[in-house]
Amino acid sequence: MSGKDVLKEIIATSGGEFYTPLPHGYKPGKTKYVIITGSVMSGIGKGTISSSLCKGLQDRGLKVEPIKLEAYLNVDAGTLNPFRHGEVFVLDDGAETDLDLGTYERMLDKNLEEDNFVTSGRIYQTIIEKERAGKYLGRDVQFIPHVTGEIKNVIRELAVKSKADIVVIEIGGTVGDYENMFALEALRELHYEEGHENVCFINITYILQPKSLGEQKSKAAQLGIKRLIEMGIQPDIIVCRSESHLEEKIREKISLNTNVPLNRVFGVHDVSNIYSLPLSLRESGFDEMVLETLEWNKKFKTNGNKGLKEWVRKTSVSSKEKPLLIGIAGKYTGSSDTYISILKALEHSSFAVNRKIDVKWIETTEIEKGEQSVEKALKGVDGIIVPGGFGVRGIEGKIAVAAYCRKNNVPYLGLCLGFQIALIEIARNELGLRDANSTEFEPKTKHPVVDILPEQKKIEGLGGNMRLGGKDVEVKPGTIAAKIHGNAKKIRRRFRHRFECNPEYIEQFEKAGVVFSGKAPGQPIMQILELPKHRFFMASQFHPEFTSRPLKPNEMFLAFVKSCMR
Ligand code: GLN
Repeated sequence: MSGKDVLKEIIATSGGEFYTPLPHGYKPGKTKYVIITGSVMSGIGKGTISSSLCKGLQDRGLKVEPIKLEAYLNVDAGTLNPFRHGEVFVLDDGAETDLDLGTYERMLDKNLEEDNFVTSGRIYQTIIEKERAGKYLGRDVQFIPHVTGEIKNVIRELAVKSKADIVVIEIGGTVGDYENMFALEALRELHYEEGHENVCFINITYILQPKSLGEQKSKAAQLGIKRLIEMGIQPDIIVCRSESHLEEKIREKISLNTNVPLNRVFGVHDVSNIYSLPLSLRESGFDEMVLETLEWNKKFKTNGNKGLKEWVRKTSVSSKEKPLLIGIAGKYTGSSDTYISILKALEHSSFAVNRKIDVKWIETTEIEKGEQSVEKALKGVDGIIVPGGFGVRGIEGKIAVAAYCRKNNVPYLGLCLGFQIALIEIARNELGLRDANSTEFEPKTKHPVVDILPEQKKIEGLGGNMRLGGKDVEVKPGTIAAKIHGNAKKIRRRFRHRFECNPEYIEQFEKAGVVFSGKAPGQPIMQILELPKHRFFMASQFHPEFTSRPLKPNEMFLAFVKSCMR
């Protein structure tokens, strides 16, 4: 029985025990599905391998659409602490997502949307809203089939909307977590309904290599994959992540214990350059094998790897010159995932200028507490980035860093909060407003040079209600911002903020030499500032890092990096 027949049979029982809503226009078999799960542990590069596969498939001319299913109950990632969970990545449509969506956007060089990111919280929210609206027609609403049914539905909706050849579904977390049980069950059902030729299960596992033994051990991986099989999911392909090259003996053990033929067990060991992964996966036959399991081996031929080779060449730095040292003055500096898009944007610029970039983390809370002087903290850096952030901790340290950069002609790039910090610093030290501040940090300040956006005043609660997503920025002709953006009059960038430059102080700032070179069309919201006399002092209310792409580095980052080289 093919997938189509199974679906027909299910539809015929409408009102029975099944719950398989099919979105309007859904054609079974038109879109195929690749499902990526992880076993043994998280943090082994599931998102990287998944996005590299997407890239390889895209390179063959397939229309690929990724979707990440996150297990947590938050409706989106907006309320998550970036220190615990990594950066909140903002999409053009304003969705606040997991940082993996950034990896997919950069790898595929395309904008994703809210539908490419689904949390359990969002699924439950939909279910409760539907139940209250009486949409389940008197049925008791159950985990199976309703939760699983809604999960299948969001996936199929994406298939219809995107008209993709392949939807690549990445399941957050690890097999065996209680949290993603329903997602896995939903995908088992999807496989049953769509048919084996339309669904490919890939498990990414980890091969341990304890130092004390000095050899690879496969038991944890075997047990992890067995959990999947116990749930009725037979993986088609297994990717073994490991520190060093996968031993043949291990590949055989994995194959024997998981019913996966040897030629479908792939090894991916640690590499320093993730940009080479799509090509090395291609060379190992990985994306070919995915297409074979989907019975697509005659379609979508490669172009001889030319595109992927070109990509590897363009995403590397050949120069042996001493790397630039860029300071990032933040407060979550213990985890690089917190600022991943900034690190990536720097990397994109480094490809463009063919110069390596190292990062020095500057913990602004230490400067604030007087444990470290600014001079010492900034020693040796070629330029400074003050990234986005929330809350008062570390703020005075950041203001001290901005003051140092401004007075000592050190290149400064301010991102969102870094824009507001520059305003406070200039107000205090140039406008003579000694107690200038943002009302975010000092609600009763006498000089609120940074204040809450009028539209934000009425809003209560913290979820999904900032000024969010892609918006137009009018660039003032004749400014540095205009020059670096190729004299564009309008650019589109992504925002995530509640506070802004208080319009009442604009004139005073301008008199002191601040040029507001980017504004919101038709609104007094300042979006870029620059100091023309400085070597490079620019800041934006938006996050330029979210739209930087490997072969199209963001203009502000590139200009900043170039000024650091001078
Ligand atoms: N906390 C500031 C605001 O809400 C800056 C936000 C940010 O840097 N993303 O406006």
